[in-house]
Order: sequence, then structure tokens, then C-alpha cells
Amino acid sequence: MDKSFPLSADAHEDIIINHPEDSVLSGWSSVAVHSGHKKDPNYAHLVPIYASSTFVYDEAEQGMRRFSGKEEGYIYSRWGNPTFSEAENKIAALETFRVKYNGSPVQAKGILHASGMAAITTLMVATLKQGDKILTHFSLYGGTEELITNILPPLGIGHTITDLRDLNKAEDLLRKDRSIRLLYIETPANPTIQCVDIEELAKLASQYNVLVACDNTFATPYLQQPFRYGVDFVIHSTTKFLNGHGTAIGGILLARNTELMKTRLRVLAKTLGGNANPFDAFMLINGMKTLEIRMVRHCQNALEVAHFLENHPSVSKVNYTGLESHPDRNIALKQMRHPGAMMSFELKKGLQGGIDFMNKLKMCVRTVSLGTCDTLLSHPASMTHYSVPKEEKEKYGITDGLIRMNVGIENIQDILNDLNQALK
Ligand SMILES: *Cc1c(COP(=O)(O)O)cnc(C)c1O
Repeated sequence: MDKSFPLSADAHEDIIINHPEDSVLSGWSSVAVHSGHKKDPNYAHLVPIYASSTFVYDEAEQGMRRFSGKEEGYIYSRWGNPTFSEAENKIAALETFRVKYNGSPVQAKGILHASGMAAITTLMVATLKQGDKILTHFSLYGGTEELITNILPPLGIGHTITDLRDLNKAEDLLRKDRSIRLLYIETPANPTIQCVDIEELAKLASQYNVLVACDNTFATPYLQQPFRYGVDFVIHSTTKFLNGHGTAIGGILLARNTELMKTRLRVLAKTLGGNANPFDAFMLINGMKTLEIRMVRHCQNALEVAHFLENHPSVSKVNYTGLESHPDRNIALKQMRHPGAMMSFELKKGLQGGIDFMNKLKMCVRTVSLGTCDTLLSHPASMTHYSVPKEEKEKYGITDGLIRMNVGIENIQDILNDLNQALK
């Protein structure tokens, strides 16, 4: 085991209670299991799937109070639903568990969405207007890149894409271009597992009054809590590790400014209409209860797989921040509990080598996506990036023999055996 990254969440940390209702929950998994749950009026153990589009009033006056905001309560499921609330409150509790910023415990509020992309869309509409710009890193999730480079520009929202690991360059851009209003970061990022320094970037952004959003999908709050460094928004595709089993699409937008979340953000999210659905929220809630034990196993397996691949004669390079060879290892050490379960590696035999390897897999699964219990492998050059020109691909570190891998929670020997026979 690599001792540089201690995997336990519960050792040697001060207990900071950010959500008063969680005052009996002092350990990570206790929060993951219990936080966000409200006692059911019918004594159901688990939150029911509230498959109801609207909510009723005892009398007309109650409807008045609900609509005017004088009384808390649900109105219409596009605006909110009890099953969504449990998921929202659980993720907010995990993203702020033991988190202090400037000496005070951080509170956060989240709005569950239909997908990660829906949450990112709400974020962009909420924070940007015509003439504004986004500053971001060149290694981004494909859908986010499409949104920033193709969908937003015709609406008058521009972007500057740079290498955010170069802090001097980031500062230079923020100082010279005052139309930059949002710093959008994703760390670790696809597919080279590049990391950017959340703390230093958030400090720079606050000097120039620029909002910061961080896509925390690859890390999960178990491995990294961006609110610790003063970012304003955290986004997840809950489709991935938070759900954990690949059973539903979902996303969440969380903000440290809870007032903003209850007012302007709530209005925006409900009007844009990218709301979640109760069944997917239910799958998410139950998946999150095992987040810690899954992540610990994912991470232990990933480190072993990385060492195995690094020493394999068919592999020319392994991109994993748990290895000394990764250029961003120190940034990962600073802000992550462990480098996580995502990695990529290059096969010496290029495109055909990649296709042959993928075809020989017996247990590991050939597919895109990530965050499931199963080990998933994809070959961008023959799959997701098949039609992208070579120069364009290489800009993002996608070589012909690159394989992306989500290391699952199966028995490690079975994973290694499958990879080994497929690499022959
Ligand atoms: C999958 C993913 C998204 C998009 O989420 P969807 O749920 O597919 O809409 C955004 N960011 C990252 C890092 C992702 O992996």
C-alpha cells in the first residue's frame, strides 16, 4: 500500500459539525448512510419514491402560503420533491463534512438535476450573461467542452481555454481580461488524469472577483472536497461514483451560498426544467450509502493495477497520480485523500493493439462511462474519439493506443489476470 495517501476518512481529524441535525454522526459512512433522511409519516424505513407530479393543500390558504414561500412544502415536482431532497441533503452533507473555510464550518445546498450536463447548464445560465467569458482547462469532459465551445458562444458567452496548471498564466489572463466571470475547473480530468490546484486557483479567482466552479465527479466528496478551498459551486455527474452501480443518469449543482440556492438558483433550475426524477433519485440515495467502502476498494485495486501496468512490457505509459511518474502527483497529494479509481495507459502497439486488447477482455467490461462496481475499459481512438482528427486528439493526450480504465471493486487477482491475458 502507498502510505502517502491515507485512505481512512475518520482518523485524526477534528470533528466539525456543519449540519446541526447530523450532530450524532461523527464518521464519514454514518453521514453517507443517515444524513438527509427525514422520518417518514408512514414509518417506511427508506425514503419512498414520491412518484407524484403535484402536492395537495389542506385548504386554499395553505396553497397561498406555499406559493408565497411563507410555508415550506412541496408544490410541483419540477420545483422539488421529497425523494430529491434526501439526495440533495445527503450530497451537501458529504461535500461539507468536516469542511471549514476561513475558520468557519461550510454549509452548502444542492439542486438535483436530470444529468450532470443539466446541472452544468443551470450553472452557466446562472452565472454568465452576454459578453462574459469562462476560463477553463483544456482537459474537460466532452459534453462540457461542447457546451462551452459550441453552444454558449452564439449566445454571446465566450471562453478562454488554457493550461490551468500554469498559475502565472491563469493570473495573467484573470488580470488582463475582466470579462472572465467564471473559472471552471475539473480535477482530476479525462483522460490523462491531469490535476489542477483548486486552492491556488480559487485564491486567484477571488482576487479578481471571479466565481469558481469545480466538477468533482472523478474524485467524489470521499476523496476531495472543493468547498475546503473556497470554491463557490461544486458539480457532480451523480451517474458515476455517487450512484455507483450504473443504474441512473443524474447530476447535482451545489453552492456555498445557501441563500442564492434557495432563491435565484431554485427559480432558474425549475424554469430551465432539467429536474431529476424520483426513481433515479432513489437509486442514487441507496448507492451513496456504500460510497466509502466502495471508494476504499476502488482505490486499493487501482493502485495495484497501476503498478502492474507500469511494469508490463506491452505498456509504454500509465497515467495515474498514484505513480511517481505523473507530473500532477503533488497536486493530487495536496487535495485528494487518494488518487482514485480512474487511470489511462498507452499500449505500444497503437490502434490495432488497442482493438485487439479490448476484444480479448473476458471479465472487464468494454464500455464508456465510469463509477461502477465493474471494471470498465474504453479505447477512445476506436470509440468516443473515432471521428476526431489526429492532431485534435493528440492535443488532449489521446493517442491511438490509449486505454481509459475505471478500476472496479472485483477481486484484484481476477482484474489483473484478465488484463494480463488480454495484453498477451
Ligand atoms: C459524465 C460526466 C459529466 C456529464 O454527466 P452526465 O450525467 O452524463 O450528464 C460531466 N463531468 C464529468 C467529469 C463526467 O464524467
